[in-house]
Amino acid sequence: MAETIFGKIISGAIPCHKVYEDDRVLAFLDINPLTRGHTLVIPKEPAESLDQLSEESAAALGRVLPRLCRAVIAVTGVQHYNVLENNGESAHQAVRHVHFHIIPKPNSREGLGIAWPAGSLDQREAAELAGSLRNRLAAQP
Ligand code: 5GP
Repeated sequence: MAETIFGKIISGAIPCHKVYEDDRVLAFLDINPLTRGHTLVIPKEPAESLDQLSEESAAALGRVLPRLCRAVIAVTGVQHYNVLENNGESAHQAVRHVHFHIIPKPNSREGLGIAWPAGSLDQREAAELAGSLRNRLAAQP
């Protein structure tokens, strides 16, 4: 995978406002924040999308995300927030290195706006789909 801007931040070639670091994870402020406190949490592993990430990096991210969210809440004073992780260009991923956004949501106008064009679940198709997913998961290493 080609090095991304986040790879350069991890190596220290490009500066960032660091919030947290351990062996597997780095967190820093987003350069174009949606709201004050907008923080990016990334694995040091150079995976492009979440499905390509190792279980070790995923576990390391999962372990620290709640703690980082608590710090963002405490420092911004904003109780509500979105955690966003985009995968692929059509899903609005601009940087091809896995990253979780923590975005404070102070009110309905500021922060992340979400279009949510929900449909309804067809029961017969849902049973088949869930079964396919269970089979796929059972077959995975
Ligand atoms: P995406 O759309 O890929 O989910 O979000 C990428 C995020 O990375 C954007 O919110 C953007 O502002 C942030 N970003 C891009 N380049 C840099 C950078 O060089 N430094 C920092 N701190 N954030 C960046």
